[in-house]
Amino acid sequence: MKKKLIAVTLAITLTALAAGPRKLPKPGWNLFSKEQDVQLGREAAAQVEKQYVVVQNKDLTDYINRVGQRLVKRGGLDEYPFYFKVVQDESINAFALPGGPMYVHTGLISAAENEGQLAGVLAHELSHVVLRHGTSQASKAQGLQLIAGLGGALAGGNGGLLGGLAQLGVGLGANSVLLKFSRKAESEADLLGVHTMAKAGYDPIEMAHFFEKIEAEANSGNSRFAEFFSDHPNPGNRVKMVEDEIPYLPKAQYGQNEGDINKMRQIVAGLPKVKKGAGRQGAAAQPQQGGSPQAAVAMPRVDVSSSMTAFQRNGITFGYPSNWQVIDQSQSGATIAPKEGVVASGGGNAIGYGILVNMAQPAAGRVDLTRDTQALIQQISQGNSGMQVASQPQSLTVGGSRALITKLNSTSPFQNTREVDMLLTIDRGSTLQYFVFIAPEPEFARLEPMFQQISRSIQFSR
Ligand code: ZN
Repeated sequence: MKKKLIAVTLAITLTALAAGPRKLPKPGWNLFSKEQDVQLGREAAAQVEKQYVVVQNKDLTDYINRVGQRLVKRGGLDEYPFYFKVVQDESINAFALPGGPMYVHTGLISAAENEGQLAGVLAHELSHVVLRHGTSQASKAQGLQLIAGLGGALAGGNGGLLGGLAQLGVGLGANSVLLKFSRKAESEADLLGVHTMAKAGYDPIEMAHFFEKIEAEANSGNSRFAEFFSDHPNPGNRVKMVEDEIPYLPKAQYGQNEGDINKMRQIVAGLPKVKKGAGRQGAAAQPQQGGSPQAAVAMPRVDVSSSMTAFQRNGITFGYPSNWQVIDQSQSGATIAPKEGVVASGGGNAIGYGILVNMAQPAAGRVDLTRDTQALIQQISQGNSGMQVASQPQSLTVGGSRALITKLNSTSPFQNTREVDMLLTIDRGSTLQYFVFIAPEPEFARLEPMFQQISRSIQFSR
């Protein structure tokens, strides 16, 4: 009986492989937690709503939310708190902030020939959010500065996460890495967007048709259409991509895709004319909150208690000095530091002494420790010109798992000081667990035994 059961199971698996399901893109390497995406999006939304005129028309707002939520719910994208607003701007564009807030220009509603085309742009934007392209790009661009900054900005800087990022030159203005995507990200957003549309009952070909229309208009010199392609470069033949994807899509009879779009176009046409807001171009010039230059703080000496407190989260347990504090905790990680180890830096804080714990997604499905550690280090180096690899990775075993330890140097937030960043990467199968142990160079030798003690205390329960 058992053998037969296996044969049946195999047959089902093979059939499933032959007809799909399609392997859809997954979020890439990212230093932010999902919660930080949401927080960043909220802060950015507050800024956006100062730059744009948000349309207060219930019919229009209800409509855009109805279309958006249909994609979110039926497309199975409801892991983020999405909401949709219409902003008065005649250029043909829409943009989604990390973690969910989405803004649709009135110009886009006017230009869409049917509801399917509007849904196509929304599905594409929703896909950027779910695939976390904005913060993934920011992670790749900023590396180690971000590792330290992310822990720090959440430690209570009054500029928030966005203020902390502004210190690193990451904002919402023109050419923002948060909103201007690579061609690879575009392909992924098209692919996931097409599947999302099909699940929600919209004909996916409308997405391709609308993008082609926007591109044709932009190429003919119509500046109202240019902004969209500046944010979303064409990854190639979109119509062919959709056609190639049809065998993998749920079989469906799509409706006429008309919906209430005609009525919405009339509402948009009847809106009182307003002076054009500064938009995202203006957001670039927005003075940042609490943007004081980096404080010149002399390196303090910190106490290291020999008694340990247990940290337990996400199937990982380790001890840390009981006089240090968990100053930031997210779904995927935490920052632990002594009070004097946190330095106010512009709108946020930086970590001069401390421990960062987090997880990264491997490049492929499973962790390849050497490759993924190199990728992590490379990303870190790219974003931090002052950073050097001080010693090549050494193999060790941590909590029964294969691990590598790599010594990095970078600039400390303390005055005229270099710091050591000891990077510990651990193979947890489908995720790369990593720790960064941070101390000023002159103090590192004194703290190293404690860092080693922490490494030895790491245990995984799953
Ligand atoms: Zn895009």
